[in-house]
Amino acid sequence: MTTVHNNIVSGPEERPIPAHLSFGQYLFDQLKKGGDRVALVSAETGEPKSYNFFLQNSVNLALTLQELGLKKGDVVSLSSENRFEFIVTSLAVIYCGGVLSTLNITYSPGEIIHILNITKPKFVFTSPITAQNVYDSCKDLSYVKHIITFGDFDVIPGLMYNDLMKKEHNNVEDFSLVDVNGVEDTVAVMCSSGTTGLPKGVMLTHVNFLTLCAHYKYYFDSVQEKKKVPIVTGLALIPWFHAYGFITTFALMAMKIKIVFLIRFEGEQFLETIQNYKINMTTIVPPLAVFLAKHPLVLKYDLSSLHEVWCGAAPLSSEIQKAVTKRTGIDFIKQGYGLTEATMACCVDLTSGEKVGSCGTPAPGMKIKVLDIESGEKLGVEQEGELWIKTPLRMKGYMGDKAASDALFDGEGYVRTGDIGYYDKDGFFYIVDRLKELIKYKGFQVAPAELEALLLQHSGVADAGVVGLPDELAGELPIAFVVPQPNSNVTEKELIEYVASKLSPAKHLRGGVIFINVIPKNASGKILRRELRTMLNLSKRAN
Ligand code: AMP
Repeated sequence: MTTVHNNIVSGPEERPIPAHLSFGQYLFDQLKKGGDRVALVSAETGEPKSYNFFLQNSVNLALTLQELGLKKGDVVSLSSENRFEFIVTSLAVIYCGGVLSTLNITYSPGEIIHILNITKPKFVFTSPITAQNVYDSCKDLSYVKHIITFGDFDVIPGLMYNDLMKKEHNNVEDFSLVDVNGVEDTVAVMCSSGTTGLPKGVMLTHVNFLTLCAHYKYYFDSVQEKKKVPIVTGLALIPWFHAYGFITTFALMAMKIKIVFLIRFEGEQFLETIQNYKINMTTIVPPLAVFLAKHPLVLKYDLSSLHEVWCGAAPLSSEIQKAVTKRTGIDFIKQGYGLTEATMACCVDLTSGEKVGSCGTPAPGMKIKVLDIESGEKLGVEQEGELWIKTPLRMKGYMGDKAASDALFDGEGYVRTGDIGYYDKDGFFYIVDRLKELIKYKGFQVAPAELEALLLQHSGVADAGVVGLPDELAGELPIAFVVPQPNSNVTEKELIEYVASKLSPAKHLRGGVIFINVIPKNASGKILRRELRTMLNLSKRAN
């Protein structure tokens, strides 16, 4: 039950996960229980794979990786679209006490190198579609000992996953997982830029993941209690390299919900998959809610099996939420709110449309306070301020960046979110704005500092500031304010193309470029992004 006491909103009590437990052991045990039942189905090929398939293959791969020198605490990078090998590799690395670092498959070599230099992986797994970029980024890095490619297509030098898997099957009963300390040891490093600066590596522990799996079970049980419609089949289409897709998929697998997965979003295939596989639940991001609310194709398909949709990673407007329900009949569109630094889910709306526009109440074991931005005073009902969250899901820290980690926590252990919101009298939260620099394009993070640093390298740019231009479909589009060099005749088109040639698609300047005389900054030289955003509003009004 949600309680509000002393201007702190608390979620239901929870039994803390014992510190010694291992996420790998938990998944291993759940796979064993799943046995020969279908765990995952590829919607592209229709191929199903059982829990036993994942158990056997992950044990085989874990033993092979250990033979190749994988030790507890070593980092393994994984750059791949959603495919069976992604799951097998993740499981194997986790069993070995390794640290998994997932890479966005659209990253350019420069972006990959930035993350590799933080995580310093010993092994890098890649699929054919990312292999060339990954190889170009890794080939001169001495800490990378092995590059392993999925599939049959031999694109780059290194090992082939299929060759490693040709070995005889090992007896899973004889396999022992590497011992871990659940609170201390990191399972995965996921990318986030936090409140400021360049992308960083968020270290999430075994206990973080175990706690989140317990929360998912709680959410499912709570909803099922009300709806009494079983969830048998889920659809996974959020990329697994993103924390949201990764965590949700493993949590659903552990609950033995059959998962049909897609590699990418493509409207017709998405709708066809829901119809053909009688999907009961899926997780989406707001642009997909816009698709469901507006696209003409949606009305051609039978979506009646879909009775639960979880939406997160960016704000979902109440108009779109209502429109989806009206158009599709799906009444359980639950908005969730969270951040990678808190293992994603901090608040989830468990009502069926009673509080449209809210991202719900605090998850079990969570405390949230709203602080006045100026005075730091704790605020009450309906008062807007910055959200701070105390949670067992709190990350261990940013890898190799103690200063940035320390800056994110206060003396009482609350995590700074950089988000502005308020709660109502029932303890439901509403996110209204973002204090931190972050831009979200279709749920993907874009760090303005990264674009600004790149723009400053262009000979025609004297100064630059980047913010998000509000957009109904994408949420926000990166837009640059640029001060040109004196006598330069640099154009908007040139700068848009320049950024597109260096960074992954989410970071392209789809909002355009506005040339100005000076970037507003405070006395210490920090860009005043709020002023830039006000300038955006003014230019919108002028048009
Ligand atoms: P990430 O770590 O990539 O998940 O990004 C976390 C950030 O996404 C949060 O700090 C928010 O700014 C934003 N976000 C996530 N979920 C929501 C939501 N339901 N409403 C508003 N903003 C959200």
